[in-house]
Amino acid sequence: MATLNLRKEQRPQIKNFINGTYYDPMSKEYINGFNPATGEINAEIPDSDDSDVAFAVKAAKRAFMSWSQFPVERRARIMVRIADLIEQHLEDLAWIETEDTGKPISLTREVDIPRAASNFRFFGTAIRHFSSESHPMQGEAINYTLRKPLGVVGCISPWNLPLYLFTWKIAPALAAGNCVVGKPSEVTPKTAFALSEICKEAGLPNGVLNIIHGLGNKVGKAIVEHPEINAISFTGGTNTGLEIAKTAAPSLKKLSLELGGKNPNIIFADCDFQKMLSTTINSSFRNQGQICLCGSRIFVEKSIYDRFKTEFIARTYMLKVGDPMKDDTYMGSVISESHMNKVLYHINLAVEEGGQILTGGKQFDLKGRCSKGWFLEPTVIDGLPNSCRTNQEEIFGPVVTLIPFETEEEVLRMANDSPYGLSATIWTSNLTRAHRMADNIDAGVVWVNTWMTRDLRTPFGGMKGSGLGREGGLEALRFFTEPKNICIGL
Ligand code: NDP
Repeated sequence: MATLNLRKEQRPQIKNFINGTYYDPMSKEYINGFNPATGEINAEIPDSDDSDVAFAVKAAKRAFMSWSQFPVERRARIMVRIADLIEQHLEDLAWIETEDTGKPISLTREVDIPRAASNFRFFGTAIRHFSSESHPMQGEAINYTLRKPLGVVGCISPWNLPLYLFTWKIAPALAAGNCVVGKPSEVTPKTAFALSEICKEAGLPNGVLNIIHGLGNKVGKAIVEHPEINAISFTGGTNTGLEIAKTAAPSLKKLSLELGGKNPNIIFADCDFQKMLSTTINSSFRNQGQICLCGSRIFVEKSIYDRFKTEFIARTYMLKVGDPMKDDTYMGSVISESHMNKVLYHINLAVEEGGQILTGGKQFDLKGRCSKGWFLEPTVIDGLPNSCRTNQEEIFGPVVTLIPFETEEEVLRMANDSPYGLSATIWTSNLTRAHRMADNIDAGVVWVNTWMTRDLRTPFGGMKGSGLGREGGLEALRFFTEPKNICIGL
């Protein structure tokens, strides 16, 4: 497949995918994409605008007339075929994703790309079992509820888990019979470009999926504003989410917003210490801390605070930061120079606020191929109250803070004292306490004695500043359909 040759080309020109055909942007303008591990230009990306979006919406509207009428079984077969093809091309896709994001190849091979395949397989299967309700009124009438696809929907995704999150939206939207105009982050467009060809190969009809590349404030905004796009599924920062909500409000578009987090990781003294320690390394630094579910505020019960601090710092110090293409690299580069500077700004702020850097805190210099890349040391900070900016604002990098606590009430208060409410992790062997904490914590997703364990059937999303609505399983299929009740008198 030509798009998978992206692996061989030095600086490929990405194209928009509309009605099954590749197009230059109407503006004929391109922007540069970068390999964050080397700092080199690695792609030319369409600088698309509202005219490209309008063209894609027309194609999607046309395609909707037939796609929405396809028997579910036929739609499902295409989706499962897309999953098979993603798996068949796993190695190429993992390489492309690593090259675009700077994240370790072990992660794209084991997590990002397999999950993209799972997204299509899961929703291709789930739609076969998606049934609706019937409510009989004894002797008077019978109600039944149809679940109709919405029409053309917009799917906008971020750079931290590019294909993983793009497909997490597209798959349920298509399975439910909608047509999609999608925009991946312009920072990481390549796997979405490759996906377009996989979808063609799998027999997805023209116009059902359209992918427009470009900037958020042009293409993203045009998708949200377009009057014939009926719903927006968005994952990204909270400020962008608020902007989208404002833009969409006048047209009453259906919205699903998966936004930022500042998640508490709560460690009680009675936990399985070694399991907690290994998992906490991952929940702090996996994907360079650029996962919305990372536990960036680590609360530790006072009686084990010193032990935790010593052992956690020793383990953090051993983490291998390096060339993301190497199999044994644990942490690759962060996504961009500007993001690296944003994280460094927050580290300086932590020091100004009185924090003490226990390890890390600086840019990480590599030799050779990656000498111009944007790498950071994994960073651990303590000595700060929960109320300071460092502990209230999302940093979205390899930076965690340690905060001691004495009682369950105290830690619950601090954990909930946050503008966010995405996820929380609790480490304890006291089951009663685990249930009590899980029940009272302000988060859409709570893990007890584990982290990032995901069953695609469960609802996923946040409360407060972390979003609106839920993705996953039946919640996603409900979001992408409109219920219509029909009442028949007897
Ligand atoms: P952004 O909010 O900057 O961007 C997300 C997407 O929205 C990108 O495709 C972006 O395009 C686009 N966009 C930007 N402005 C607009 C606009 N006005 N209208 C429509 N679309 C727009 O987030 P990042 O890409 O920086 O991703 C990191 C953020 O995502 C973090 O805050 C993280 O917590 C959150 N996130 C949340 C998850 C969750 O499930 N809750 C999961 C993963 C990440 P462009 O790239 O061109 O700016």
